[in-house]
Amino acid sequence: DAAQLPDGLQLYQHGRDDAHQRQITLIRDLRRAAQVGGLFLHFQPKVDLAQGRVYQAEALLRWNHPVYGIVSPGEFIPLAERTGSIQLLTAWVIEAVLRQLHSWNGRGLYMEVSLNISAEDLASLTLEQRVGDLLQRYLIPADQLVFEITESAVMRDPDRALAMLHRLRSLGIRLSVDDFGTGYSSLAQLRRMPVQELKIDQSFIRELDDTCGDAVIVRSTIDMSHALGLKVVAEGVEHGETRDLLRAWGCDTLQGYFFSRPLPADAFEAWLKQQPHL
Ligand code: C2E
Ligand code: CA
Ligand code: CA
Ligand code: CA
Repeated sequence: DAAQLPDGLQLYQHGRDDAHQRQITLIRDLRRAAQVGGLFLHFQPKVDLAQGRVYQAEALLRWNHPVYGIVSPGEFIPLAERTGSIQLLTAWVIEAVLRQLHSWNGRGLYMEVSLNISAEDLASLTLEQRVGDLLQRYLIPADQLVFEITESAVMRDPDRALAMLHRLRSLGIRLSVDDFGTGYSSLAQLRRMPVQELKIDQSFIRELDDTCGDAVIVRSTIDMSHALGLKVVAEGVEHGETRDLLRAWGCDTLQGYFFSRPLPADAFEAWLKQQPHL
């Protein structure tokens, strides 16, 4: 079993078999990681343009596999979603975020942290109960927690998912539409979701300039969101010019490599003390 070899040593003799073997190994080891270790969080700042400061971040899951090393969430999250272990990972992320918020609150550092929720999580009848219990255990006000949800996750089973979103909302958790503009976006769907924030997908933002077609989409999405009473986040801001355009168009919050990559908690705290390029 290649996954059992020490020191990251792997025998790559059959390319396709190796890719398949890697998937099987990752699927097997994910549950173990959620229970025994290997998962950790990175935090990426979200810059509030009106206030010119950072009090929000997105928590992004990282996995250090004993053999493969750092595995990207783009690889292991879809595997976890397909094989029924995503709820275990989400539970781990929620608790890790609340533990971090507890530590920051205790040191007078106020942060609001968003985390990513999958379709299967919204189908779980116990999600809201479990989150409520954890908020109490870690003494965290619910409005310091934001759940990012894609429209396609809601579309999987809309009635059930919307019911869960309303229950989470009653707890006081804020909700954000992730990856807006991809997949099933529709105004009708958006109006049914009890959300406070909309994140424009990074595919519209990364190469943005004021002459491209994306500019029209981005500007009208910002205006539409405001008309619906939602805050707008642009993610994938990589250039100063993009920041300037989004600011001129009235976007509320920016996130992207231009400000900072996702960072481990201690590096994130150090970054907060500097807050360059805002
Ligand atoms: P996402 O939720 O859309 O998260 C944003 C992704 O864009 C992150 O990738 C982030 O590192 C990256 N990013 C941020 N700014 C920039 C930028 O300026 N340029 C570019 N090129 N990329 C930028 P990451 O951390 O690799 O996560 C990928 C996806 O994996 C996430 O997309 C999300 O769908 C999923 N994911 C990550 N953590 C979790 C988690 O805890 N739970 C769930 N269910 N999904 C997660
Ligand atoms: Ca997200
Ligand atoms: Ca996103
Ligand atoms: Ca995404």
